[in-house]
Amino acid sequence: MRPARALIDLDAMRHNYQLARELSGARALAVVKADAYGHGAVRCAQALESEADGFAVACIEEALALREAGIRAPILLLEGFFEADELALIDQHELWCVIHAQWQIEAIEQAQVGKPLTLWLKLDSGMHRVGLHPAEYQNAYRRLLASGKVSKIVLMSHFARADEPECERTAEQLAVFQQAREGLSAEVSLRNSPAVLGWPQVPSDWVRPGIMLYGATPFELAQEQAARLRPVMTLESKVISVRELPPGEPVGYGARFVCERPTRVGVVAMGYADGYPRHAPSGTPVMVDGQPTRLIGRVSMDMLTVDLTDLPQAGLGSRVELWGKQVLASDVAMAAGSIPYQIFCNLRRVPLLYL
Ligand code: PLP
Repeated sequence: MRPARALIDLDAMRHNYQLARELSGARALAVVKADAYGHGAVRCAQALESEADGFAVACIEEALALREAGIRAPILLLEGFFEADELALIDQHELWCVIHAQWQIEAIEQAQVGKPLTLWLKLDSGMHRVGLHPAEYQNAYRRLLASGKVSKIVLMSHFARADEPECERTAEQLAVFQQAREGLSAEVSLRNSPAVLGWPQVPSDWVRPGIMLYGATPFELAQEQAARLRPVMTLESKVISVRELPPGEPVGYGARFVCERPTRVGVVAMGYADGYPRHAPSGTPVMVDGQPTRLIGRVSMDMLTVDLTDLPQAGLGSRVELWGKQVLASDVAMAAGSIPYQIFCNLRRVPLLYL
């Protein structure tokens, strides 16, 4: 069998979930959209279900996959619904739903629902992606309550720059939210991972941690609370071939790396078809048999190459950690000009093994 695989530490994920609750003092919806950021939504939700207040996904297909797997906890559709006729499924499967546009309010007013719905009413407080305009927020709230189709409304918004600790935009968005919701006595939800970790002053009845569940920091620089996260995924493989090359010899496609000294090159069964970032440059950190070394040459589809020159014990069959507890996914992502969110979501072909 090809040795590439991703180990998923479910205890670490439970630790991270509890950290989100501890830091916020709020109930937490575990964000498991995009197949739990590549970690396997069903297994992650099953591992959290006994303690989680609920889950959040991007769309109804993701919610139904969790229901089919037997998840009974609340599930929030973070993007709401895309077609009015999805409301029948939302009703049938008792899904919670974000409302961010006028047409959705009209669809709810006209819908036939068996049980009153739990809705999260999203305000555009300044990210300018989705959400109701502040001037229409209170009216939207009242219309939904008056529709007779709704049992509960949570007020929500989303921050654009919570991962930038010094940025004033988060406080500005909070002020817009507070003004728009003035006089409405309902629960609120504003905080994603960076806001849970870095913005304790933001009020919350509910938080929505995603990336922090998986143990990766959303910040570019070291951050005190993020240091308490435990990485969940270890992406690992093995050295499948070793080359001894003299100075001047190139390695890999495009001859982007040329040996400056006598070099032992380890070839690892891992490539961009597995989701390892193609743009990770020479020098990107990697661990071989627990020792730090670096990527050299271009990442190819099924293989990549690492420098074994200073690791004389390493060779054929050596274990390689591409990211995990020793090499942080966020460091690999940054080296490749990406973010941990994306490199996790890009994972494919690699079997996920749950610990
Ligand atoms: N809430 C909303 C509305 C989101 O869109 C997302 C993710 O994109 C999250 C929460 C989770 O964000 P994070 O992974 O940064 O915690």
